[in-house]
Amino acid sequence: MANQLTIALAKGRILDETLPLLARAGIEPADDLSSSRKLVFATSEPDIKLVLIRSADVPTYVQYGAADIGVAGKDVLAEHGGDGLYESVDLGIAPCRMMTAGFEGKALPRFGLRVATKYPRLTRKFFLEQGRQVELIKLYGSMELAPIVGLADVIVDLVDTGNTLRANGLAPLQHIMDISSRLIVNRASLKTKNEAVKRLVERIEQAVEGDD
Ligand code: AMP
Repeated sequence: MANQLTIALAKGRILDETLPLLARAGIEPADDLSSSRKLVFATSEPDIKLVLIRSADVPTYVQYGAADIGVAGKDVLAEHGGDGLYESVDLGIAPCRMMTAGFEGKALPRFGLRVATKYPRLTRKFFLEQGRQVELIKLYGSMELAPIVGLADVIVDLVDTGNTLRANGLAPLQHIMDISSRLIVNRASLKTKNEAVKRLVERIEQAVEGDD
């Protein structure tokens, strides 16, 4: 169906801020996304449906064309690498920073630094650019615990207010990149469903601009 479009969204912070934006673009889910256990949702637009997946999976769904469009944090996009994706609008949603963090003032080993993160690819690249080879420890959450229990010397994680780090006796150390959520588009959909995709992206762009 040439004009059927699927938008991939992730539950949590990004979804909470994306839904009002989509509503302003005239796209409202038929059910309450936060309370439903469904994964696929019809919308007020007969040709547009939403799928709800884990944030780290959004680029993969869009890469393979299982979704035409998605909303993903720059962190998961950069970690994914961006194959098959066209990065469109910066939605300005969920802004934060990707940082290294650890105990303030603590001397770190020059060699064999152990870094816990859910972003192994970005972390390796960041330290390699500084000429440092590190031991990466892949975690899926609660990174702040790793230095406390001696699993890692430092972590690489997202920092917004810094409260989570402070609450665990840690401090931000080095800035890696600024993060916000982006609209991403499957490269093939851009060609095969050009009109429909362009129209939808424009509507979302206008909703972002109207937000200023
Ligand atoms: P904060 O305490 O405000 O610095 O927030 C830090 C915690 O929230 C960490 O567990 C981060 O992984 C998470 N976090 C912060 N900003 C974001 C974001 N934009 N998207 C997803 N998770 C975030």
